[in-house]
Amino acid sequence: MSLTLHIDEARWRANLARVAERGALVPVAKGNGYGLGLARLATEANRLGADTLAIGTYDEYDAVAGFTGNIVVLNPWRPFSHREDDRIIHTVGRLSDLEQVRGRVLLEAMTSMKRHGFTAAELRSAAQLATDRGLRVEGLSIHLPLGGGLAEVERLIDDGLAAGLAGPIWASHLSAEELAQVRQRHPGLSFRPRIGTELWLGDRGALSVSATVIDIHPIKRGESFGYRGRAANRSGHLVIASGGTAHGLGLVAPSTNAGLRDRASAMAKGSLEASGVLRSPYSWQGRQLRFAEPPHMQSSMLIVPSDLAPPTVGDQLVVQVRFTTTTFDRVEFV
Ligand SMILES: *Cc1c(COP(=O)(O)O)cnc(C)c1O
Repeated sequence: MSLTLHIDEARWRANLARVAERGALVPVAKGNGYGLGLARLATEANRLGADTLAIGTYDEYDAVAGFTGNIVVLNPWRPFSHREDDRIIHTVGRLSDLEQVRGRVLLEAMTSMKRHGFTAAELRSAAQLATDRGLRVEGLSIHLPLGGGLAEVERLIDDGLAAGLAGPIWASHLSAEELAQVRQRHPGLSFRPRIGTELWLGDRGALSVSATVIDIHPIKRGESFGYRGRAANRSGHLVIASGGTAHGLGLVAPSTNAGLRDRASAMAKGSLEASGVLRSPYSWQGRQLRFAEPPHMQSSMLIVPSDLAPPTVGDQLVVQVRFTTTTFDRVEFV
């Protein structure tokens, strides 16, 4: 009675190997572990032979403790949020933090994302301060917006060089082609691509999600059901399947390009919720099912229309999920 992620092992590993071919890869394991779990990603990073793993926050350190190499923390070091360990590499983006941090650091350059980091002028002071304080500078960190572009990378590399940083450049969100190009242009510098989504989720066809049918009841139009005693607006079967809000299942089937338009349509569908015509992420026999009512904590009530042969208890429904927001009961290699 689980929401299960099935991984086609051979196919999934082939994608890992393909991405790792770029060289000097730093796998990223953060959040819900891209749906696969942080501990599993740590194990996989070991298998890949990665010397460094990137995590999002200091709080995630324990979950990846099985990783045998260095650990870069992507969120910035702060006086109120850090952890000391010889294998941790801190990311620092403020001079006041650089005055207090100890050990190994990446100096982060502010990109057009404007999230964290030093401006070009600050970077020069930072490099100097790091030297004065005897910190071990492990390189320059660049976190580009999605589809970042080469011009910005070149500018940031120049800023780094002007600050006297010749160490590796830890870059996020460079495409394979862009990475090859910057490497070609700067043979004297080393580049470390930090990759999460493309590595773990790059071949969606290797991943499938199923939910178990826990119960099923015939229902007639007008009959009441559910937490709110709502009347069924059509006849068919009421299916109760594993997967609910605790798994991160929302009201609307996720889209891979969830933009404004999708959100607008999600809101429009929200208003249809009361009439019981809300699309769910579940499907049966290739047909997308509708929620009978909003998902419960660990299960969802769905409507199988009367023109469709109903499943039986124990059958598996196919579920479309957004991996970075879904918690699976089980993750299994097949
Ligand atoms: C999350 C994150 C990454 C990985 O991003 P993906 O899009 O999953 O590859 C890389 N760098 C930084 C700084 C991040 O926060």
